[in-house]
Amino acid sequence: MTDLLYLHSLEACYLREFDAEVVRGQEDYVVLNRTLFYPTGGGQPTDQGRLIWDGGEARVVEVVKGREIKHHLEGELPERGTSVKGILDWDRRYSHMRMHTAQHLVSALAFDIFGVRTVGNQIRADRSHIDFYPAHFTDEDIRRLEGEANRLIDEGRPLKLYFLPREEVLKRFSDGRVDVSRLPQSVEEVRIIEIEGVDTCPCGGTHVKNLKELKGVEVLSKKSKGRDKQRLYYRLL
Ligand SMILES: [Zn+2]
Repeated sequence: MTDLLYLHSLEACYLREFDAEVVRGQEDYVVLNRTLFYPTGGGQPTDQGRLIWDGGEARVVEVVKGREIKHHLEGELPERGTSVKGILDWDRRYSHMRMHTAQHLVSALAFDIFGVRTVGNQIRADRSHIDFYPAHFTDEDIRRLEGEANRLIDEGRPLKLYFLPREEVLKRFSDGRVDVSRLPQSVEEVRIIEIEGVDTCPCGGTHVKNLKELKGVEVLSKKSKGRDKQRLYYRLL
């Protein structure tokens, strides 16, 4: 099992380099004993970057999570047992951290103010979107959502990361904001991300430590995605 280093703490989400060992290599990918690279999942795109080792280097183009975490490489393939250094493309990852944190914030406010649930999202470095249901946002509603999000960003609300036992999570998250039935059976200790005074949510993604880092959120447009379902596109300042 690969140790996913970014899961351990909010501080770990800010690490840009790590040392690891190649457990297995095949075709165009390697499995490492530990990694900082976030694999595609939960609406957040893969991290990219480089692996370097004594006498070699390769580009990490995509990291995929299945039964194991595969780092797909372009270039050379390090052999099993090789000590490697992993280096993240930091601008890309940091944009995803900010966008992903904004998604928590906007989803929480939409639920609190309008009672709508988040049923999908796609994070990108420049523009992201969230799908809401059942949603009928007017332009005025959107300005209200945006205004409330920016007020909390300006206040600089801090985030916290901690772990709770699965049973506790199932009890605590019964209000419909989060679909806890989707928690994998294998997860005993659930990773919780809390925006102080705003939202508490189980999540395995990467986040910033304080809303201040988002600077500001702008909802760009809305789009109907079928009956009672709306998509909001947003960007960060
Ligand atoms: Zn998250």
